[in-house]
Amino acid sequence: MINKLFNTVTAFSVLLFIGTISFSVLYPVEKKEPAVKEEVVAEPPVNDSLMEGLTAEEDDGKYRAMINLTLPEGNSPEDTEIEEDPMDRMITIKIKNAGAEYFETNPLSGRADHIKDIRYKTKDGNGEIKVYLDGIYAYEDTYENGVLELGFLKPNEKYEHVIVIDAGHGGKDGGTAENGAVEKDIDLSIALKLKDIFDLNPDESIKVYYTRLTDETVSVKKRTDFANDTGADIFLSIHNNSLNGEENAYVNGTQVMCYTNDGRNDSEAFAKILMKNITGRLESKDMGIISGNNIYVIKNTKMTAALCEIGFMSNLEEVQKLQDEDYQLSAAEALYESIKEQLKSN
Ligand SMILES: [Zn+2]
Repeated sequence: MINKLFNTVTAFSVLLFIGTISFSVLYPVEKKEPAVKEEVVAEPPVNDSLMEGLTAEEDDGKYRAMINLTLPEGNSPEDTEIEEDPMDRMITIKIKNAGAEYFETNPLSGRADHIKDIRYKTKDGNGEIKVYLDGIYAYEDTYENGVLELGFLKPNEKYEHVIVIDAGHGGKDGGTAENGAVEKDIDLSIALKLKDIFDLNPDESIKVYYTRLTDETVSVKKRTDFANDTGADIFLSIHNNSLNGEENAYVNGTQVMCYTNDGRNDSEAFAKILMKNITGRLESKDMGIISGNNIYVIKNTKMTAALCEIGFMSNLEEVQKLQDEDYQLSAAEALYESIKEQLKSN
């Protein structure tokens, strides 16, 4: 009986095996491209939550939300690193010497309002906490007696000025492609140089946010919602231009787009400052300040907003300049001084 059953099972397995092979040969598994995720604000991953340490008290003081984290014994403040990911309304706290046992001691307390979730994970004896917020918040951190206190407040409650820099296109969206150059790369390169200038000239009164710092796809809606959620004073989008047709290849110069005739802010004044400084630094041709009333990021942002078309990529001479690092740096300097000038005029 046992033998017979064994034989039946063996025969069945052999048949199944042959069947699987022929099925695989006849119907090879199609390799699919991974789906591109966009517009989705990061959702808490499935691992351990630290929310139980928080209370549901109402926001009553300076901070909208507050967490206190008792750091592992013997850790100095330098053993903790805080990273902001404002586009995803999240911050990450990295803690050295914080393994699973550390988190079992419930090291976290605080106030739960405006915090959607707090998750942690551990790797190689170090810990990582992700705080998911219901909006964009700036934070203030203090260390006292081995406790890290993190208070969250709206960016414009902490900083006098909030700026959003938007490098055009990115990822799947290359923008204009002319003469071997792709617009998204030039836009990003100028934005990164502008970030370097801001980073080298620290100013406690100014916070600068960026819609992208890598080659990633970001929808215009996500850029616009982000700018509005930060409560920024200024939104500046960086682009480059092109015109179709051989007969237009001679066209070169700078254009600045803004919302015209709206009276709600001083976008036109800002556009004029930008034009003056860009053409001044780059010695590019003034191709005019034009209406951006139908451009999504201009139409839907609520603050002073402008979109710069630094140069024409369809013009051979200009596209070569636009790919030059020094030229990009000059463009970034022009944008930097324009923002400073605009802030002063308010
Ligand atoms: Zn563009």
